[in-house]
Amino acid sequence: MTVVTRFAPSPTGFLHIGGGRTALFNWLFARHHGGRFLLRIEDTDRARSTDAAVAAIFDGLEWLGLDWDGEAVMQFARAERHAQVARQLLDEGKAYRCYCTPEELTAIREEQRAKGLPMRYPGIWRDRDPSDAPANTPFVVRLKAPTEGETVIADLVQGEVRVANEQLDDMILLRADGTPTYMLSVVVDDHDMGVTHVIRGDDHLTNAFRQAQLYRASGWEVPTVAHIPLIHGPDGAKLSKRHGALGVDAYRDMGYLPEAMRNYLLRLGWSHGDDEIISTEQAIEWFTLDSAGRSPSRFDFAKLTQLNGHYQRQADNTRLTGLIAPRLAEKLGRPLTEAETDRLTAGMIGLKDRAKTLVELADSALFYVLPRPLTLDDKAAKIIAESETRNDLAQFSARAAELTEWNRETLEEIARTLAEERGLKLGKVAQPLRAALAGATVSPPIFEVMEVLGREESMGRIGDVLDSSLPSL
Ligand code: GLU
Repeated sequence: MTVVTRFAPSPTGFLHIGGGRTALFNWLFARHHGGRFLLRIEDTDRARSTDAAVAAIFDGLEWLGLDWDGEAVMQFARAERHAQVARQLLDEGKAYRCYCTPEELTAIREEQRAKGLPMRYPGIWRDRDPSDAPANTPFVVRLKAPTEGETVIADLVQGEVRVANEQLDDMILLRADGTPTYMLSVVVDDHDMGVTHVIRGDDHLTNAFRQAQLYRASGWEVPTVAHIPLIHGPDGAKLSKRHGALGVDAYRDMGYLPEAMRNYLLRLGWSHGDDEIISTEQAIEWFTLDSAGRSPSRFDFAKLTQLNGHYQRQADNTRLTGLIAPRLAEKLGRPLTEAETDRLTAGMIGLKDRAKTLVELADSALFYVLPRPLTLDDKAAKIIAESETRNDLAQFSARAAELTEWNRETLEEIARTLAEERGLKLGKVAQPLRAALAGATVSPPIFEVMEVLGREESMGRIGDVLDSSLPSL
């Protein structure tokens, strides 16, 4: 049997982080089994299902790197097929027309409430002769659900879960206006798409019983289900806006890499021994639902950031430059030149070691592309203001000008000699250089910076500082 999974989001305007994890689990399960991963947009809520809201789901999945097989199925477009299945069930006597008016149903519910009974449709039209039907009265179509016995689900995550059939009333399949209900659409679509495994949030577990009944009534095989616990916030409450961003796009904007996000989302509810860093290739190899947890996992921003730092250090330098280029262009108010792009890529090793997100990376890389003269931050300005410092800088600059080979080793050698002559530690000479070249007191290793900036730019930046009048402190 070929495994077929699906992700079936309802458009809400963004791809929810929990949806991203559901998609990831379905994708991994399909890829692990060499199966297919399908996408279905549940766009029956017409008001919310705008083109932009649908596009946001595609974008989110594409960014996460979760590719789906074939064309995405649009649920609303299949409404006629859904209705056809309901009509077929009617013809076979497995569903029936219910002519209860909304007023009647309200009265029944109120009575049940008053008696402290569970509120369930009591099957009024289930066995009534259709000739009793009032003329020209709208009707809904309900499933003739079993009234005795149990519906049992062997859930791959939750284990065996069961419900007494008397607790489930005859659900509506077609509304009075002829439109299919959500429950009908999901079952028909999953069946028609050949879905073998339904992996989704455990908020859908109760739906699974009714869906199983509908499959059986239709004579279809019930897919295997796996309901994964929802994601909670760090405080244990269901993840909500007050915990932080909910949309996958917001994490992209905050500077996280998709591979870090995949690793992080995987660990939210799934484990492989003590492994924290799990590449996508490993995840595909290892992913089964036996290792999915049953209790809700808590979102941990610090862990995500730490993972991101790891993946960022591993990432290709040219790729990272491409990823921070738009952020730098925004700060500069113009696109980067080719020379600047090359410079950033050359400096990336030193930069990426220090930054945990792309936002931090862009911030720390900015000095490489800022125009001269640099504006020094307060700490750097203070260092430069010391006359000894200026003297050392001038000395360094004069000797560096003589270099035939401009690289980190030759530059460091000059600084070492100078420090020895002056009876100083190397750092004492390096720090003013950092202030002059990066405009700050933190930067990648300074001789690496000088090599990346090149002779002309480095000498220029040191010269700017020496030429400038002493800042008043
Ligand atoms: N459209 C549903 C949702 O977004 C998912 C339905 C399902 O997975 O069966 O929550």
